[in-house]
Amino acid sequence: MHYISTRGAAPVLSFGEAMMTGLARDGGLYVPQSVPVMAKAEIAALAGLPYEEVAFRVMRPFLGDTFGNDEFRGLIEKAYAGFGHAARAPLVQLGANHFLLELFHGPTLAFKDFAMQLIGQMMQAALAKTGARITIVGATSGDTGSAAMEAFRGLANVDLFILFPHGRVSEVQRRQMTTPVEANVHALAMDGDFDDAQARVKDMFNDFAFRDGVRLAGVNSINWARVLAQVVYYFYSAVALGAPQRAVSFTVPTGNFGDIFAGYIARKMGLPIEKLVIATNQNDILDRALRAGEYRTDGVKPSISPSMDIQVSSNFERALFDAYGRDGAAVAALMGELKAGGFAISQAALEMLRGTFASGRCSEEETVATIRHAFATTGEVLCPHSAVGVKVAEEHIGAAPMITLATAHPAKFPDAVEGAMGVRPALPPRMADLFSRPERVTRVKNDLAALQAIVRERIAR
Ligand SMILES: *Cc1c(COP(=O)(O)O)cnc(C)c1O
Repeated sequence: MHYISTRGAAPVLSFGEAMMTGLARDGGLYVPQSVPVMAKAEIAALAGLPYEEVAFRVMRPFLGDTFGNDEFRGLIEKAYAGFGHAARAPLVQLGANHFLLELFHGPTLAFKDFAMQLIGQMMQAALAKTGARITIVGATSGDTGSAAMEAFRGLANVDLFILFPHGRVSEVQRRQMTTPVEANVHALAMDGDFDDAQARVKDMFNDFAFRDGVRLAGVNSINWARVLAQVVYYFYSAVALGAPQRAVSFTVPTGNFGDIFAGYIARKMGLPIEKLVIATNQNDILDRALRAGEYRTDGVKPSISPSMDIQVSSNFERALFDAYGRDGAAVAALMGELKAGGFAISQAALEMLRGTFASGRCSEEETVATIRHAFATTGEVLCPHSAVGVKVAEEHIGAAPMITLATAHPAKFPDAVEGAMGVRPALPPRMADLFSRPERVTRVKNDLAALQAIVRERIAR
């Protein structure tokens, strides 16, 4: 299995190399050269298996010889052992044909744990073989950072730096990033918004002297290994509702386009997904792009679903790559235009995208109303991101069962949830002492050289 860059001008890599590299050297994102297809009988055989076994069978064809079978099974077991639910990703029913996939039972209460816990195990196992050390730098709108801290703290061969936009993450998210005591993890509170933080991380990757000097690796959702880990729960939930004999639909609260892109891969692998619906909050660049055919940035408007407060959805580049017939030069040209504000999507590409994804947007008021309504009618407490999904899903329910991805636990966003329904959601008992742990965080300017100095200084210890 080989991985190629969406901009067509970076080395072709193995799975292990693509995982360690993150962003390709031409600025692109790695994608598999071809997507393995699962036969209908193989998909049917997933029904009733434990999550870990589904994970093994779905991901194995993408790995090449990076890990042996027993080794990979062991890594999967360890990755999901700390989840607080036996099903790992339980389905609950919201309505006649509407289901919620609860992806928030991991250690930091968001779906990002599914990928991050596994990538932590995979990276440490790969590094331990050679004794090499790496430096991971990641930007977060909140949940990636906490999931990464939890997955990498204490790992012997990794230093982790997480940049989050100062004052723009929830208190639970911040505390999950600033309270780990292990010396190899570093929380950096940066001036600016998430797009600024993400841009500085990209700058670090594009400074090759720095990148090679500190052995930089990435765990943002551009990392292919993260996308792959998220493909698993599409299969797991779909077979529980009758796939492959019947098709299902998914609605995905979307920010950086990683989670929904995993659904796109699941469909390419043969899972019968009828509708794949992008749900955005008021930061609706993706919904506008599909409607108007123009991908144009518009500044981030802070919302009560902050993990989706994003304008430049990095993983959308992977969808564009396919929509433009896998023409790396064409994608590189579009990304150049995006730096200047945006681009018009070609007619052929727009037709492909509209045929592949549906989309919808949910305002702040609608998010609040959806939390209130879901609680009143079903007893389910939604986080604001999941509520965005539920609202948009309701507009797209057809004959196939609709599965909405619940991306975070409501207790991660207690103010928004309490504001909507008057009840403050409690943290699970295993996290009850979060507010009494001491915090450790460094304030930094939105400045590349200053950030690089901090990284160099800390890893020299
Ligand atoms: C990260 C995140 C999202 C957005 O996921 P993407 O893969 O970036 O599209 C949605 N909801 C929550 C709670 C998240 O943490």
